[in-house]
Amino acid sequence: MSWSLPIGRFGPTILRVHLTFFLLLAWIGLSAWQRGGLSAARDSLLFIVLVFTCVVLHEFGHILVARRFGIETPDVTLLPIGGVAAMGRMADKPEQELAIAIAGPMVNVVIAALLFFVLGTIRPDDVVRIDDPAVSLFARLAAANIFLVVFNMIPAFPMDGGRVLRALLAMKFGRAKATRLAAGLGQILALVFGFLGLFGNPLLIFIAIFVYIAAASEAQMTAFAEATRGLAVQDAMARRFGALPLDATIGAALEAVLPTGQHDIPVVDGFGKPVGILVREDLRAAVDKLDGAEPVTSIMRVPVETVSSTAPLEAALDQVLDPAGTALPVTDRDGRLVGLLTCENLVELMITGSNRPDLRRDLR
Ligand SMILES: [Zn+2]
Repeated sequence: MSWSLPIGRFGPTILRVHLTFFLLLAWIGLSAWQRGGLSAARDSLLFIVLVFTCVVLHEFGHILVARRFGIETPDVTLLPIGGVAAMGRMADKPEQELAIAIAGPMVNVVIAALLFFVLGTIRPDDVVRIDDPAVSLFARLAAANIFLVVFNMIPAFPMDGGRVLRALLAMKFGRAKATRLAAGLGQILALVFGFLGLFGNPLLIFIAIFVYIAAASEAQMTAFAEATRGLAVQDAMARRFGALPLDATIGAALEAVLPTGQHDIPVVDGFGKPVGILVREDLRAAVDKLDGAEPVTSIMRVPVETVSSTAPLEAALDQVLDPAGTALPVTDRDGRLVGLLTCENLVELMITGSNRPDLRRDLR
């Protein structure tokens, strides 16, 4: 993500801050400054930075447990709505997913407990007045951590509570069915939030939309992950497709491409290695503006991302499902083009997979 600024590294994990997060800081600082001058601005910013430090610690709760299970944790990104820890893959067993999901909120429970310990006693009404500067910073921070626990334990994706629920259900029903159940419950909850939001806090409507979309996409990603588990890229890639040589002209490309339905056409060099991708829309747009004798290299998309034919299919999912991306050229050990992986290949795999005995071993 180019919109994120790396600000630190903890072991193998890079901590990034999304640029919109700085907008949030500026907005909070400015509005506090308008209300109460410089000291109010300083107090508000300090509070937000401390809260987001707790959010980062929460994410590292997930990360440290995930690492114990051998899951790669390349980065954490801090967004205005919270933190997102990237995971290399899903946990193998429900017990592991449960441990990873619960570790984050547990960090906030510990922080809140420590703060209560430091504060001695805390008045319950202080906890409610989270945005009142008259209440001590630590008391407000303790309250924020309690809020983080409660919010994250809402049993709906993408909150940790949704993953906890899915893990618990998966112990009984298997992951695919557990995800459907958890996503369904999440969507019902989203509708309840949305309904409450209509009569109360409009923020609930925002959360409802967020949760509804996340539940649907989690269900879809899990379905893909289930269908692709244990398969290699070569099991799903298209083997019959058109490709263009490096010296092809736009005119030649038109002739070759128009009669086929192929959307993305790899361009290969003399050794058969992919050097670019010609996208159908780009070709159509170029026809009006450019001479047919121009080379396709002038309109192909570069650089081209490739994937090895023996790589696990699960690892290529993100690239293939990226709506802004193109088909993914698949290469052999020498880097030569041997296949093409598209979204349609994956959908086909999911539909036909259950009918193919050679794939059935991997499908539940
Ligand atoms: Zn979490």
